[in-house]
Amino acid sequence: MSKIVVLGAGISGHTASCLLRKYLGKDHQITVISPTKKYNWIPSNVWVGVGDMKPEQVLFDLEPIYNKADINYINARATKIYPEGSRDISSPFVVAEGVTSKEVKNIEYDYLINATGPKLNFDATEGLGPSKNSQSICSASHAVQAWENLSSLIAEMKAGKNKTIVVGMGHGMATCQGAAFEYLFNVESKLRREGVRDRAKIVYMTNEYELGDFGMGSLHLKYGGYIAHSKTFTESLFAEREIFWIKRAHPIKIDKNKIKYETLDGTFNEQEFDFAMLIPPFAGVGLKAFNKNEEDITSSLFLPNGFMKVDGNYNPKSYSEWDAEDWPKTLQNPIYKNIFAIGIAFAPPHPISKPMQSPNKTTISPAPPRTGMPSAMMGKAVAQSIANLVNGRDKPLHTASMAKLGAACVASTGTGLFSGTAVSITVFPIVPDFKRFPEYGRDLNYTFGEIGLAGHWIKLFLHYAFIYKAKQNPFWYIIPE
Ligand SMILES: Cc1cc2nc3c(=O)[nH]c(=O)nc-3n(C[C@H](O)[C@H](O)[C@H](O)COP(=O)(O)OP(=O)(O)OC[C@H]3O[C@@H](n4cnc5c(N)ncnc54)[C@H](O)[C@@H]3O)c2cc1C
Repeated sequence: MSKIVVLGAGISGHTASCLLRKYLGKDHQITVISPTKKYNWIPSNVWVGVGDMKPEQVLFDLEPIYNKADINYINARATKIYPEGSRDISSPFVVAEGVTSKEVKNIEYDYLINATGPKLNFDATEGLGPSKNSQSICSASHAVQAWENLSSLIAEMKAGKNKTIVVGMGHGMATCQGAAFEYLFNVESKLRREGVRDRAKIVYMTNEYELGDFGMGSLHLKYGGYIAHSKTFTESLFAEREIFWIKRAHPIKIDKNKIKYETLDGTFNEQEFDFAMLIPPFAGVGLKAFNKNEEDITSSLFLPNGFMKVDGNYNPKSYSEWDAEDWPKTLQNPIYKNIFAIGIAFAPPHPISKPMQSPNKTTISPAPPRTGMPSAMMGKAVAQSIANLVNGRDKPLHTASMAKLGAACVASTGTGLFSGTAVSITVFPIVPDFKRFPEYGRDLNYTFGEIGLAGHWIKLFLHYAFIYKAKQNPFWYIIPE
């Protein structure tokens, strides 16, 4: 019998544990450790944040799903990994602390998957975050709070007041521009539907060098039969909706109604707001690692930002030397071959957007995007690899490199079965590869943008399809990742 432990029950970890149970017989033990009792379909938090969905539509209990699938579920937070065992325990194990009980358990494993996602690093910017002066939609509860604040603002606008709304990035190195972009457009649409659009000034604040960078170093895409740059595509969407933008910005401090920020030219500026939703930078969740002698080996498993090292090329290189081949493929840790990291938990070897610094040495450029589709694909590839290893099949490990995977961002720009619209952007591959695609770094047959009602239907379909799949309803595994 093999013991497989999965840390995290988000998009990547839940995909991996459910597929492992499908691939492996019941004589193998699968355990999921997660501090959150509910699964959150995070992409639809955007709709919760504008009051178009209730939190219960994006959340469901994990325990009954895991009971049905014969997966052990431990409601705890992993804190330490002992990949060689310890003085007292001969097998590798994880230390986990109960969320309510605070009981500490050692959970032994033969294979470990780290799918712990991001630490939402609000502390990186003074005053950032829902417990301080800005809103977030990174969790369902954050999105509920964002909507409570936004709906009060709408009530004031209905009473005749003018308001300023800022949506964007809460730090010069934050990623997840897609989520901010989607929320921005949903807020704009909500204000129109509420009849108060003319009372709001909407500002997008971003660390991107140009709009449409998305942490992917921008892209060329096919749009309406033409090849357009993502800057032109995005700026036209903003201009059509009278949304202002501040680019190349690093927020330094969020006061109650004011953002102090630096821009890449080294100047310091201020932006007032009545409502601000700013995405925090991501870090690893802070797992520690120890060897058999109980010495701290955290730095050999993790980069300083807390993300886990896997089979990427982490040797420092200049921007001109970066290569698609640097990106991890098997997601296997090079030292401890029975450990894998997937989704946001693995360490990217380098950013995709060109790093930029202001004259004050402040880095202002987005970290690489960490989206759901590749996270789920990584979960699947690692589940397949571990199933082969467990079954003693002599096959190469399965791969899911961001330099070989595409991503689809369907950014809803308003709900309504016949009035909704969405901006759909597909990119292939996520990490540009100028050796394979010398002209644009990407395959333009699969890199395109559209806006319209069909995109909204796709977004709605994906919401229901992925929740159906995550709930393990009949034939769930037919729905692709
Ligand atoms: C508002 C928003 C909208 C988005 N929209 C889209 C979209 O439209 N399309 C798209 O492709 N992507 C989208 N994304 C990105 C997508 O949500 C992420 O790529 C995806 O959730 C990453 O999956 P993950 O499994 O790595 O992390 P998560 O889904 O965050 O899961 C991490 C899991 O680890 C658990 N965990 C944390 N710490 C520990 C610990 N110490 N021990 C054990 N478990 C732990 C957490 O509780 C959670 O269960 C969006 C993101 C946001 C914030």
